[in-house]
Amino acid sequence: MLRTVIATAATAATLSGPTHAYAQDSSLTRAYSAAECPSCAGWDTPTRPVHLFANTYYVGTSGLASILVASPDGHVLIDGGLPSSAPAILRNIETLGFRVSDVKIIVNSHEHYDHAGGIAALQRATGARVLASDAAAATMMRGVPGADDPQHAIALPMPRVPKVETVPAGHVVTLGQLQLTMHATGGHTPGGSTWSWTSCEAERCLNFVYADSQTPISQDGFRFSDNPRALAAFRDGHALLERIACDVLITPHPGASQLWQRVKTAPDGLIDPDACKRYATAARLQLDNRLAIERR
Ligand SMILES: [Zn+2]
Repeated sequence: MLRTVIATAATAATLSGPTHAYAQDSSLTRAYSAAECPSCAGWDTPTRPVHLFANTYYVGTSGLASILVASPDGHVLIDGGLPSSAPAILRNIETLGFRVSDVKIIVNSHEHYDHAGGIAALQRATGARVLASDAAAATMMRGVPGADDPQHAIALPMPRVPKVETVPAGHVVTLGQLQLTMHATGGHTPGGSTWSWTSCEAERCLNFVYADSQTPISQDGFRFSDNPRALAAFRDGHALLERIACDVLITPHPGASQLWQRVKTAPDGLIDPDACKRYATAARLQLDNRLAIERR
């Protein structure tokens, strides 16, 4: 059944071709200056879209992931990069032969400007519904991080998304035959989410995990040791990433999971059933190191 569905999606994609008919609004795609964000220009360097496996595609920039999970009933887009990444993401979707207007749902890893900043423009261009955790939804609609974000004083503001629907942890987002599960993996931000789905081609199915950032970064003066909610969110997230079915790990910053090396031999080079466990182990170590520094 799934094989038929994917074959149909590929045919539709081939026939549709680039349209360039999406709405663009420069106020939603303004690039941050080098003074505001020294890393942004590097992250935002365009790159070609990559067919990862079956109905899963990388459509982000070279330094910020955006993933398209395609189906004949419409597509789900995960993450929107920076505000200025949105045009490149839309171009990549069209280069693959998909219609931008067929993106029906946009979801997010975490509510920072470098992963959610492009969502307002992408929502405007696609007309998609935007779904996120409670905390991420509130931040995206406000355009600035909440007071409980460890980086709330240093994370840049981003264009507001007019409407974001909230989904609880464990919720399965369905679109036709697509099913993507949201897992709460906060800590880096209060609303951080990991998304998992299965992509199949012929008789082969792979479990994809788009695992949120796990870095315990903060503004000066913030102490994770004084924030039991952030600590518990990190610990729960690490445990989840250790037990989740995970053939292919993708991270919001592709370098954090060596994506560019692995895609050279995709799809087999993408597969590593221990990658999520190692990601969790490294994250636990980073957090423990941070807590040790805070105790000094
Ligand atoms: Zn972040």
